[in-house]
Order: sequence, then structure tokens, then C-alpha cells
Amino acid sequence: MDAQVIVVGAGPAGMMLAGELRLAGADVIVLEKLAARTGESRGLGFTARTMEIFDQRGLLPRFGDIEVSNVGHFGGLPVDFAVLDGAHQAAKTIPQSATETVLEEWATQLGADIRRSCEVLSLTEKEDSVEVEVRGPSGVHTLRADYLVGCDGGRSTIRKAAGFDFPGTASTLEMFLADVKGISLPPRMIGETLPGGMVMVGPLPGGVTRLIVCERGTPPQRRETPPTWQEVADAWQRLTGDDISHAEPVWVSSFGDATRLVTEYRRGRVLLAGDSAHIHLPAGGQGMNTSIQDAVNLGWKLGAVVRGRAPEALLDTYHAERHPVGQRLMMNTRAQGLLFLSGAEVQPLRDVLNELIAYPEVSRHFAAMVSGLEIRYDIDGGSHPLLGRRLPDVRLTGDKLVHSSTDALQRARGVLLDLSDNAGLRRRATPWQDRVDVITAAAADLPAGSPLEGTTAVLLRPDGYVAWAAPGSHADLPMALERWFGPAR
Ligand SMILES: Cc1cc2nc3c(=O)[nH]c(=O)nc-3n(C[C@H](O)[C@H](O)[C@H](O)COP(=O)(O)OP(=O)(O)OC[C@H]3O[C@@H](n4cnc5c(N)ncnc54)[C@H](O)[C@@H]3O)c2cc1C
Repeated sequence: MDAQVIVVGAGPAGMMLAGELRLAGADVIVLEKLAARTGESRGLGFTARTMEIFDQRGLLPRFGDIEVSNVGHFGGLPVDFAVLDGAHQAAKTIPQSATETVLEEWATQLGADIRRSCEVLSLTEKEDSVEVEVRGPSGVHTLRADYLVGCDGGRSTIRKAAGFDFPGTASTLEMFLADVKGISLPPRMIGETLPGGMVMVGPLPGGVTRLIVCERGTPPQRRETPPTWQEVADAWQRLTGDDISHAEPVWVSSFGDATRLVTEYRRGRVLLAGDSAHIHLPAGGQGMNTSIQDAVNLGWKLGAVVRGRAPEALLDTYHAERHPVGQRLMMNTRAQGLLFLSGAEVQPLRDVLNELIAYPEVSRHFAAMVSGLEIRYDIDGGSHPLLGRRLPDVRLTGDKLVHSSTDALQRARGVLLDLSDNAGLRRRATPWQDRVDVITAAAADLPAGSPLEGTTAVLLRPDGYVAWAAPGSHADLPMALERWFGPAR
């Protein structure tokens, strides 16, 4: 074997997965066809859940000063993220290229072997391994690993080569993206619906302005080269009446609303994460964030399996947990596209939703949906309200080293929070001490109505989701430990 896992693609999903696999102690090679990053940034920031995930791994300081904001939208309807629980708001205007650079440095420091100018051409699945044919700087060669993960984007070679089904709908329109310098336009961060379409304007670092332009009735095109700045400026003028052609383009691109989701996230020894598994209209800034969260769901499971610490069946929970998240993503981006990009015929619907969104419960529903905080994995085993959910950051007192539930996850191991100093409970977890940290502490400063009130113990998976909680879980703690962390030792 050349590695336990080969990851194809060094985008956000591939880099996050490589780091998580290294934290789990797995050997990983990342193959990336590009010689260097392009510096282009489709994505621009983090949802609240991605902020929490980066915080769990101690990554946030690497991004420098992060501008956060509670202002969001659902298909152009304003949503206030302040209604959500948790320590983090969404982060704005962090270019995807900066995110990729941070994640690549992190994964490299953790020991991932990242090989650029290496394009995967094909794959062959064997009974005990997967082989890929790679075109690299010194010619075509073969590499072999226990498992292969395609993080190679929306046009994924791995998805096609491994025969994954990718049903959905083709693009119905073409939208423009332009990053420009030399103009000052009033921001339209959540977009503005106009008689002929929709425009969005937001500031980027370095005096750059991001424009998104959608002219209704513009059919998708098969382009060999990006659109010209003049095409974008002309569309802008038709929609707004303003001439901005004097601006200096930094990057011009086009995209559509194709919406597709694989039917399986795993076929034998081949798995998919990120855009290789799901493509959709980039509404609400969710694609990269969901891709990173796919990687965090998969990394610790695959790491445990290749290290012989957990049974292969653990990998099936990756599809079981992330496919429903993908389905919700398809649903909400389609709905946002209809609200955002349709004409006057949907105005009554927008008006009704605008009334509804004023209710805190409705606003919370939309905010949770696009921020990743609504996720509840189907972890059967009881009625505790935290089961299957991520644990919002909790301050802990009583342990010398760990001061919050977020700190406790930095090592990407399981965590048993013993919140009632229960020696019997701790003893039951001892056979898993090589995989699960036990922390005896008290939860402090709980907000009113916190589901942690009255909770005496919580078992967290390395991705921060609650696998067991007491009181209220039917399964014994050892059963839950065995299910998520493998047999006792
Ligand atoms: C206009 C626009 C705006 C967006 N804005 C946001 C936003 O604000 N927030 C957000 O969360 N998301 C946003 N997205 C979506 C986001 O950009 C993607 O979801 C994200 O890049 C997916 O990451 P990934 O790692 O799965 O794939 P990618 O970023 O596509 O990375 C795939 C990598 O695989 C490599 N690769 C491909 N084929 C091979 C091969 N055969 N061999 C080796 N390497 C290969 C590629 O070179 C690339 O580096 C936006 C998208 C668009 C189009």
C-alpha cells in the first residue's frame, strides 16, 4: 500500500479530510491536479457550524481577524442569525482561497502528503484495496490504498469512474460572478430583485467588490473560456441602468443552478465528499461549508476503520448521516433559487414569507437550516434532546486543562463529559481510554432552557455530535462506546 487513504482533490473538502485523517492517525496522500492554487475564491465565509468546527480544532486564530455578522438571508428574505444558540455567528468575506491555504498548511503540519500536479485518470477497485492511475510530473504511475475519497469537485472524475449515480436537474440559466476594482457601489449583501433579474454586491478584502449578476431568461452556455467583463457590465446595465464598464476586472466567471445529489456517498472502498457528491445553486453560502462538514463527519470514522480500531460498518453511517443533509441542501437551494431568481409572479409568495419570517420561530428555522445548526443525526437510543445534535459550546469548571466543551474536542478524539463526578460512569469508560478522553467537570453559565440543564453526562464523537447523554438514553454507555469507537480493549 502507498497509503491507508488516498484523497483526490486539494479543495476545502480534501484539505479538511486530510487533516482529520491525520488527527485520527491515518496515512494519507492527497493528489491534486493543479500545480498551485489559482487564488480564485468562489466561497466567501463560514456558516456558524463551520466556525464551531474550526474552533473545535483550534483553527480560528489562523484566519486572523474574522469579521462576523448576524445578517443573513434565505432566497433574499432577511434572516437574523442572532436567534441561534452557540458561541459563533457567521463569518463574512473570508475568501475561499484563504480558507484553502489555512487548511493546506494545517494538514501539511499534521503530516499529510500533498502531491500537486498529480491528476487522477482512472481507478480500479480490488477486493482489499483501490488503485488509481495518476498523471504526475514524471509520467503516469499507479498508487494503491485501502480507501479512496473523491473530493474532486462538481465534475468529479472519481464519481464517474466508480459509477456513482448523480441524479438531479441540469442548469436552467447562466449567472455571472465578477470581482472588480475601481468602483464604489452601495452594498446589496443579500441581493436585490429587479424587474429583469437579480444583482448582489459585497465588499472583499483589498478594495475588491464582488458582483453577482443574474439576468432572467439567459440560457446556460457551454463556454470554453470565461465570460468577458464587458458581457457582465452589459448585463448589469440592462438590469440596473448603470454603466460600470470602467471598473477593472480581477476575476470573471459564470455559474448555473444545476442541482444534483449522489444516491450513495460510499460504494465499497470509494467514498465521495464535498461538491463531488452534491452540486446546487450557490445560494446562502453553503456549498463549501457543507463540503467541510462532510469531511469532518467522514475523517474520524475512516481513520478509525483503517487503523483497525472500529469495524467497517462505521463507514455506513457516513452515508446515513450526510445524505439527508445533502437532500436538505438540494431542497433549500432550489427553494431559494425560486424566491431569488423568479419574476413578479412569486412576489406574493415573497410577501407572505416576509411576514412569516418576522416570527422568531420561523426566523430560527430558516437560520438553522442555512447555518448547519439544524442537523440532527439519527442516533437512535433515547429521548435526550441533545442526542444526534452538536453540543453548543459549554464552559466547564473543575478540570485543570480543559475549560470548555470546544477545547475538549481539539484532539479529535471521543470525549466523555462526566458532569456529576460519577466514578462508576468513569470506570465503565476505562476500556476505551485509548480512544475517548474522560473529563470530570461542571457545566457553567448555561443559558436559560439549555438542554444541558439536568444532564449528568454526555458522550461526544470527535466531530462534536452527541452520541449518548444521561439521563435519557436507553443504551448503556458501553453499548454507545462500542458502537462509535469499536470494541473495548
Ligand atoms: C459563484 C459561487 C459562489 C460560491 N459561494 C460560496 C459561499 O459563499 N460559501 C460556500 O460555502 N460555498 C460557496 N460556493 C461553493 C463552493 O465554492 C464549493 O462548494 C466548494 O469549492 C467545494 O469544495 P470541494 O473541495 O468539494 O471542491 P473544489 O473546491 O471544487 O475542489 C476540488 C479540487 O479537486 C481537484 N481535482 C479535480 N479533478 C481532479 C483529478 N482528476 N485529479 C486530481 N485533482 C482533481 C481540483 O483541481 C480542485 O482543487 C460558491 C460557488 C460558486 C460557483
